[in-house]
Order: sequence, then C-alpha cells, then structure tokens
Amino acid sequence: MERTLVLMKPDGVERALIGKVICKFEDAGLKVVALKLLKAKKETVERHYTEDEDWLLSVGRKTKQSYIEKGQKVDETEREIGLKVRSFLVKELTRGPILAMVLEGNSAAEIARKIGGGTEPRKADPSSIRGMYSIDSYELADNKKRSVRNIVHIAENAAIAEKEIKVWFSDSEICDYKRTDEEAMYG
Ligand code: GDP
Repeated sequence: MERTLVLMKPDGVERALIGKVICKFEDAGLKVVALKLLKAKKETVERHYTEDEDWLLSVGRKTKQSYIEKGQKVDETEREIGLKVRSFLVKELTRGPILAMVLEGNSAAEIARKIGGGTEPRKADPSSIRGMYSIDSYELADNKKRSVRNIVHIAENAAIAEKEIKVWFSDSEICDYKRTDEEAMYG
C-alpha cells in the first residue's frame, strides 16, 4: 500500500480544523497510520523543504504564472521567488503548532493531493481542503511577507512522501492495523 505525508500548518490548527481535515481523508478511504501535534524546529522544517533546485523553480513558475494571469509584472526570477518562499515557509511552520500525519491507501499520494486542492486557495477547487477552508492568495501572502496560508502541506508524490515521512516520523511511530472497511474497499 502507498503512503503519503500530510502536515497541517499552524493556520489550520489555529482555526480548529484538525477534525474536519482528518475526516476528509478518512472519509475518502485513506487510513491514518501515524499522527502527532508538535512545535517544529527550524532545522526540521529546513530538512523538509530542502533547497532542491527543481522545487525552487517550480514554486517560482507557479507564482509568476498567477501574477501574469492577473496582468501584474514580476521582476524576481523563478529561483529568487523559490528562495523567498522557502524562507517564508520556515518562519510559518515554526511559528505555531503543526499536525503531522502519515496516510496509507491505494494511490494515497495522488488521492491526498486531490483532496487538498491547488496551492493557491483563491483558485483551488471549492470542494478541496484549500478551496473550502482558506481564502488566501499569492498576492496577499506576498504583501504580508509570509507563505500562503493554505491549511495543509501534502507530499507531491509517493517517492517524495517516503523521504518526507522520515523527516517527521521514526519507523516505530507508524502503526500497522486494519480498517474494518478494507474488505469493502479492496476486496
Ligand atoms: P504545494 O505543493 O501545493 O504546497 O506548493 P509548492 O510546493 O509550490 O509551495 C509550497 C508552499 O509555499 C505552498 O503550499 C504555499 O504555502 C507557499 N507558497 C508557494 N508559492 C508561494 C508564493 O509565491 N508566495 C508565498 N507567499 N507563498 C507561496
């Protein structure tokens, strides 16, 4: 079975969305196999958001596209945007409690990303977590010099999830059990 990592960022915890968000994943059929509320250290968040070149560029690309669609000019390069966002994320994820969880199930990574929705809540599908529980935008977040408050981080794919799980959980913290509806879903 595939596993993925979800972090509820401080904006989600502070808005008391823990129950509602877990419910969305569980209702879809994903199984919570590890869960903890914690105050993250700067070094841990830096290990999670590594200075991976592809990631820095992809963050910058998405942001630039959104500004261009709104007819606004961006002077920063994609990499500069990526580095700026990474520093915003380290600040945001260490400023308050976060909820870390590992979810397991068929195509867990893809399903969890779908339930989470697009990066920018302004544009995210309204039935997704980010579209339903946040009204933030790149522009508002950039003006406030913080990362976009989009409630959750969800690993991009299963391979990345495996690396990210190791940042937040030891093997002994991950539980092996059966949901009673597994026969109905997988039988
Ligand atoms: P995700 O995989 O959908 O979370 O998106 P990314 O990996 O591209 O970005 C990581 C996180 O950085 C997002 O969830 C946002 O919280 C934040 N973020 C991304 N792009 C921007 C931006 O242009 N400005 C700001 N302020 N935050 C951003």
